[in-house]
Amino acid sequence: MERPIGFIGLGIMGLPMAGHLLKAGYEVVGYDLVRERLSKLVSQGASAGSSPKDVAQRAGMVITMLPDSPDVEGAYLGGDGILTGAKAGTLLIDMSTISPVVAVKIAAEAQTLGCAMIDAPVSGGETGAINATLSIMVGGPAEVFERAQPVLSLLGKCVLCGASGAGQTVKACNQVQVALNLIGMAEALVLGQKAGVDPAVVLEVLSGGYAQTRVMDVRGPRVIHRDFAPGFRSRLHFKDLNIIRETARAFECSLPASALAHELFGSMQANGWGDLDHSAVVKVIELLSDTEVQTSRPS
Ligand code: NAD
Repeated sequence: MERPIGFIGLGIMGLPMAGHLLKAGYEVVGYDLVRERLSKLVSQGASAGSSPKDVAQRAGMVITMLPDSPDVEGAYLGGDGILTGAKAGTLLIDMSTISPVVAVKIAAEAQTLGCAMIDAPVSGGETGAINATLSIMVGGPAEVFERAQPVLSLLGKCVLCGASGAGQTVKACNQVQVALNLIGMAEALVLGQKAGVDPAVVLEVLSGGYAQTRVMDVRGPRVIHRDFAPGFRSRLHFKDLNIIRETARAFECSLPASALAHELFGSMQANGWGDLDHSAVVKVIELLSDTEVQTSRPS
């Protein structure tokens, strides 16, 4: 019923994810605005779609993994979009990180055409996509979740979070927590550095007590050696902080620390640091105190 699977958006995340579906024996029809991304999937055995509409006409299930809310809206609701080609009963899964409000709107449109839709954003990054160990947060009806589970479980571990949009809401909560952890680590390291303590000592002590976080364990050693090569680009986290603010406004929720995080991540974009890892927010905190975090210990 779900075969073939359409896969739209073959970037850092989408390409390895679609590859897992091919490896599991599914026929995949791919599509990306960038021809080279599509060619990479075709070279692994997929067929090439010519538009979101074409993919939907040929597939029993369509997965999207696109950058932002306007991209996803265009791919589903646009003139040559998925909903112009999908048959009644087609299973639609959006795995991009977008606004929960937009996710609910698209799912409602899909439902009027008799299509089943869930939102299923992920965390775990490129490594999670490559190793099929993503954490997948699903919003939508339980029976649609059940239907999607055999395919989603090829990509990672999925949890049903609630009704349509709930997956995106939980993803927004995740991004609040990660941004604030990164800023907390940055302030701790800058304070230690300016007061004359090697940042490696700060990390070692904080990681052994109540202040320990996964963000600090994974990113801390790279930050103190000035390694800001992206795992997750700061411009994508800035996009997520915009989603968080829109969502907070929509639900009359006041998130003062997220508003501050939005400003600090905005400053990263203004300084040309959008393609650095999101842990490079430490560079903004450094600017405020005219200091640079750098350990004297070898890596
Ligand atoms: P990316 O920019 O690498 O890939 C997006 C792909 O979509 C590109 O290949 C682009 O050409 C294509 N695209 C854009 N608009 C399109 C359209 N209208 N039709 C067809 N193709 C289109 O982004 P990514 O890192 O793969 O991220 C995708 C989503 O996953 C984002 O919402 C991001 O926030 C989320 N995410 C990313 C990570 C990560 O570590 N990279 C982790 C978790 C979640």
